[in-house]
Amino acid sequence: MLVNLKEILQPAREQKYCVGHFDIVNIEMARGVIAAAEEIGAPVVLGIEEEQLKVCPLDDFASFVLPLARKASVPVAVHFDHGLTFGRCIEALKLGFTSVNFDCSRDILEINEAKVAEMARTAHAFGAAIEAELGYTPYASELHDNVSDFFTDPSQTAEYVAVTEIDALAISVGTAHGEYLQTPKLDYGRIRAIADAAKVPLVLHGGSGLSDNTIREAIESGVSKIDIFTDINIACCQGAIQAYNDGVNMISDVIPYEEHAVKAAAAEKIRLFFNR
Ligand SMILES: [Zn+2]
Repeated sequence: MLVNLKEILQPAREQKYCVGHFDIVNIEMARGVIAAAEEIGAPVVLGIEEEQLKVCPLDDFASFVLPLARKASVPVAVHFDHGLTFGRCIEALKLGFTSVNFDCSRDILEINEAKVAEMARTAHAFGAAIEAELGYTPYASELHDNVSDFFTDPSQTAEYVAVTEIDALAISVGTAHGEYLQTPKLDYGRIRAIADAAKVPLVLHGGSGLSDNTIREAIESGVSKIDIFTDINIACCQGAIQAYNDGVNMISDVIPYEEHAVKAAAAEKIRLFFNR
């Protein structure tokens, strides 16, 4: 069933488990993720980020993901990830997305707050939820010893959440987007301090490639949603490679390999997030 992001994150925060958020770019990935969530009986988030609209336009994404979410046996939120412009976020809301991430993490605090507060009023008027970012989660290539420059400041958190009226807060505590070039070191104390101050579910971007122990400790510290793209992006491709290695030469026969590979990769994460 299609649900508002808030509906699945609030219980996760209260009961200290985590919801898997998977960004996808095709229907095979969407079906693989939903199949994994249904098998486990866990809620899930399907998203697409603005950067990936070049391979899957927003209205195409909506045309296959929203019906899949509605007919799923588990709660599914449909999320526009890392929206960089007001216009794109509005387009997603008009298409029926149940959540948007308006990414103003590169703006100074006052601008970030003002832009996100306006988007929050708009998203709520559409009956959707909003996630926003305080601190900047870098790309793996930007992850270096001084990465804490980007980190979320716990002392800014309570005011940011109160002023913006967001439903979920994405935090920067040591993770990065893409394939890690070095082992990330998470600041768990910072997660706990933010969780105490924020009073809304916390979101960790850059979830691909984290060790199981890192994920467990992040959830224990107060993270309620972890975002994954690279892991299932690679899994889908590996499924296709396996098909070609098996001598398959028709795309209709490649598709099941891709879906199976995505389902297996997503299930591994969802079990870890949900059962702990
Ligand atoms: Zn992200």
